[in-house]
Amino acid sequence: MIDFTNRTAVVTGATRGIGRALAESFLKLGATVVGIYASNSSEADKFQTEWEQARLQMLLCDVADHDQVKKLYNDIESRFDTIDILINNAGIRKDAIVALMNVDQWQQVLDTNLTGTFNMSKYAVPLMMKQKYGRIINITSPSSYMGIQGQANYAASKAGQIGFTRTLAKEVARKKITANCVSPGFIHTDLLDDLTEEHLSAYKKMVPMRRFGRVEEVVDAVLFLASEKAAYITGSVLEVNGGL
Ligand code: NDP
Repeated sequence: MIDFTNRTAVVTGATRGIGRALAESFLKLGATVVGIYASNSSEADKFQTEWEQARLQMLLCDVADHDQVKKLYNDIESRFDTIDILINNAGIRKDAIVALMNVDQWQQVLDTNLTGTFNMSKYAVPLMMKQKYGRIINITSPSSYMGIQGQANYAASKAGQIGFTRTLAKEVARKKITANCVSPGFIHTDLLDDLTEEHLSAYKKMVPMRRFGRVEEVVDAVLFLASEKAAYITGSVLEVNGGL
């Protein structure tokens, strides 16, 4: 049984989908959680009311905005002193084929998924270095290498996360900080809400197990990498994708 008592975990994108399930699991396993979200205050408030403030702090912060992230970490440091676990889970899609993709669609996805991962990690690392312990887990995607049509921006951001993670892992290894990616396959969350039945069924046929993954299946992989048991795993990408 993994125990996160006395650990503080920062989870980005904690209002919905994979991030919400992760935040709930960390809480159930004893951690204090700082949950970050972009705009969905009603869902954040609902989640907050389920837990006492000493255990869960839901904070509004656009991970793509460096100044907001810097301010967020001042706040975190003053409240918690340090953090043990960072899950860079916040992510968006804005699909279009390259010829029709506008600059905003390109930039917003890169800013949230990749620059957000950099911003959040940049300020987590010094806190983790001070205590010589840390776990950073970045949620990437098989889109990074599969070449799914219409996802050039998303694929570039997710491939970028992998390169970022492998580099960071080497930079912080001597301080007993690990950095890894978890790469979920198709998981039914709000992120896939815009897809037609036709798209969903085509995607399902691509999966050797012929089903989408469950949020809990991703959560279990992340919890393991976030635990003390995974001390010798760093710079890796753990695929949770039914064999894609
Ligand atoms: P959801 O769309 O269900 O949730 C996205 C979360 O990210 C929300 O909490 C949202 O906050 C938050 N968020 C979005 N933009 C920002 C931002 N700029 N700053 C802070 N928070 C932000 O996504 P999923 O749970 O499906 O996806 C989670 C991660 O998993 C993503 O990185 C995604 O790319 C990856 N992934 C998902 C797959 C899937 O099939 N679902 C497959 C492979 C990877 P708010 O509620 O305020 O909008």
